[in-house]
Amino acid sequence: SLPCCHSTRRSYFLRWSMHCSERTFVAIKPDGVHRGLMGRIIARLEDKGYSIVALKLIKPSKTLAESHYEALQSKPFFADLVAFITSGPVCAMVWEGKDVVAQVRKLIGNTDPLTSAPGTIRGDFGVDIGRNIIHASDSISSAKREIELWFHTQDLIEWNPTLHEWIYE
Ligand code: ADP
Repeated sequence: SLPCCHSTRRSYFLRWSMHCSERTFVAIKPDGVHRGLMGRIIARLEDKGYSIVALKLIKPSKTLAESHYEALQSKPFFADLVAFITSGPVCAMVWEGKDVVAQVRKLIGNTDPLTSAPGTIRGDFGVDIGRNIIHASDSISSAKREIELWFHTQDLIEWNPTLHEWIYE
């Protein structure tokens, strides 16, 4: 039987939607797609307990890539970064769950694979900072901005995974 806090499914879902419906934007960069890492990366996020609410394979336009990385415009590597991202394909996704923004940043590891811990995606699969496989939003506000930039609202799928009651108390 379920723990007592799950007295009714209705109150459970109300509580879940209040506390656990945070969203983040995740993108597997062209190196990750070319290297066949999409399945393993998606599996890691599913294994952690997060749910996917949108996914598409896309060859981003220059405008999209430049807006996405607008905070890095003045960096010397900006042009190379935009050229790399627009080479595609990129696997763009939105993931949902409690503390998903901070937790996915932890799962992907530090920007430079030299300092990202083993066990993280970048730590396990990457070598070079310019080929670090994956992007994930670094704050709740950038997640909101990035989700709106990459997806239409109607592409975000509302669903209630039945496993939630075994992942959240
Ligand atoms: P993160 O992707 O971890 O949020 P940043 O926002 O600082 O990191 O940088 C965005 C991306 O730009 C990085 O993931 C990396 O691919 C690239 N990048 C960052 N710093 C460098 C650098 N010094 N040289 C080349 N590419 C870089």
